[in-house]
Parts: sequence; structure tokens; C-alpha cells
Amino acid sequence: MEQVLAAVRTGPGTTEFREYPMPDVPDDGALLRVEVAGICGTDVKMYARPAIPGPVIMGHENVGVIVVAGSAFRERQGVAEGDRVFVEHYVPCRRCEWCHLGEYRHCEATDWRTNPDARRYGYTSAEHPYHLWGGFAGYLFLPWNAVLHKVPATVPAELAGIVTPMSNGIEWALFDAGVGYDSTVLIQGPGQQGLAQTVACKQAGASLIIVTGTGRDAARLALARRLGADHVIDVQAADPLARVLDITGGKGVDVVLDCTSGAGVAPVLLGVEALKRRGGTLLVQGEMAAFPDFPLKRLTEKAITVRSARGHSYRACELAVAQLASGRFPLELLTTHTYGLRDVDRAIRAVGGGLDDDVIHVSVLPWAAA
Ligand SMILES: [Zn+2]
Ligand SMILES: [Zn+2]
Repeated sequence: MEQVLAAVRTGPGTTEFREYPMPDVPDDGALLRVEVAGICGTDVKMYARPAIPGPVIMGHENVGVIVVAGSAFRERQGVAEGDRVFVEHYVPCRRCEWCHLGEYRHCEATDWRTNPDARRYGYTSAEHPYHLWGGFAGYLFLPWNAVLHKVPATVPAELAGIVTPMSNGIEWALFDAGVGYDSTVLIQGPGQQGLAQTVACKQAGASLIIVTGTGRDAARLALARRLGADHVIDVQAADPLARVLDITGGKGVDVVLDCTSGAGVAPVLLGVEALKRRGGTLLVQGEMAAFPDFPLKRLTEKAITVRSARGHSYRACELAVAQLASGRFPLELLTTHTYGLRDVDRAIRAVGGGLDDDVIHVSVLPWAAA
């Protein structure tokens, strides 16, 4: 029987290579040959401190080609063998209110935090049936309820690897925080997520985009400028609040997007102060379990709306694929590193900042020569 090679997380910071039997694809299932699996900051955290017990094939940002598809799967999904697709990491129930809205990210069937039997690519034990539940492998199993988006052949593999941060950029900046024509925006953090937000805001018509970073981010801040940022601030070299107020003539910005992912309370405190006098929107990531002395009074005085950065909807993914296919922005400048399957451990460490400062986005190409 044919075997499928997979990079399997067997413990904190530990990868082993294992082989699993090629799945016997049911009539309502399919098999994807993985072309590219993008890596993000969540992988770094999940690799160091796994939240799912048991062996897990990581890789939750997957694009590939459908090589086998049962007739019920083809009928239900509207796809054919040979189609190239982006697979959302959510594997939802397709029955609940959220699923009917295309908001699979909120479906409990795919939420490992509240459902121990959840299915989600990159977050599901390889001991579950079909085993191939992550993109760091030659193939991925697709059940009847996988969520697929067709990807044009004109989008290179490495570029296709950033469809997830691009989807998040559209979801968080445009849909959650309401950035649009003439918006003024402060984006904190020039990593892959902050840069994707920059493109989403520019495309949507923001009239002012300010991106912050640190001394290590010089190349990333320069790239932010190329992608549409009007101003960049090194927060170690200048007082970021003073700069934002100076740039905006003392008014502050409409929207603040925190893409620092783990920089502590400082970005949130800066965000509260950098927002306009009344009615701004602050998008936060939930890295901190607690926030002592949170300035709730200041928040309510300024009538600030807080939104949570939490994945992406179906529509955001469709728009992200279209953004990549358009070639309107030089997004290929984000795709700095690729690794083969045997180098998964190294690839995750590269995203974690352990290798060099030039890393922006890293992808695993499972079929690339090691
Ligand atoms: Zn991710
Ligand atoms: Zn559902």
C-alpha cells in the first residue's frame, strides 16, 4: 500500500517523520496533493506549547491540487480532479447558524478550544481516521465538509502560501474594523500580518496608513512603504504617540490594528491614545490572559469600539485569492523563505525569529527537493 510521508509534531518543539497509509477516499471525500503550506506566528506558539494532545501534523494554511475526489464530493463542492484550491483550516458542521453565514471560524465543530473532537487542519490528532489532517505532509484528506476556494494557476505557489494572512488582513481591517475610503489607520507590527493589513487598507482606500516596528524591522518597514504605508515609525527611535499625533495634526487615527502578536500591553496602550478623540476602533489580539490596570475608563471616555482578531470568513478568503491573482501589489516581496518537508522544524523556527531578521513569510513546499 502506498504510504504518505508527514512531518509530525510529537511533543513540544519536536518533529518526527512518519508514514501513514494513503487514505481510502470515500465517495464524499477527496485527497489533496499539498503544493504549499504557509506558516504563521500561531505555528510558532503551537509548536513550542502544543494545545492538542497526541501526534499532530501541523500546517493549517494549505493550497494544493485535488488528485482524487469521490462523486458525491465533486457534486457537493463543485470541483473536479485537477482543481487547484486553498483549503480553509476550518472543517465546519455546515448546519449551524455560523456555517450558513460563511463564518466557519465560529462553528463549534471546528473549535478545538471548546470541542475535544473538533476537526481543524493543523490542529487535529493524526490518530483520527484518515490521519492526514495537516499540510506538512504530501497529501491532505478532504472530508465532505472541507471549505475550498479555487486558486488560479497564474498565482505562483509561494504567493498562494500567503492567502491566509491576506484573508485575515481583509477580515480584520475591512470587515471587523471598518477601514474604507479615506480612513486613517495605525498598523502596529510590520510582520506578514501587518503587511497584509497594509495592502488591504490601501486597496480599500485608506487615506493615511502608518506602520510601526522596532529597530530589527528596518527591511520590513521599508517594505511597508512599498506596499502603501504613508509613514513608518521605529518605536525604539521615536516616541510613536508623538509621531502619530504630529502626522495627524493632533487628531489621532480612526482605526488601530495590533499585529504585534505578543508585544505585551504597550501596543494596546498606544492604540487607545493614538485613536481619535471619539469613536475610534481598536482591533486586538488575545495574547495576554490578563491585563492589569487596563484603562477601561479611558476606553469608554473615548467611546472606543474593541474588535477581536479571529480568523477569517469565506468572503474574506475569496477576496484574498482575488487580491493575490490581481498582481496589483508586489506581494511576492513577502515570500522570503521556503523549505522542503524535511525542514519543517527549521521553517517554524525561522518564523519564530531564531534564524535571521530577513524573514517575513515562510512556506513549506512538501514536494520540493530537500
Ligand atoms: Zn496561520
Ligand atoms: Zn457549523
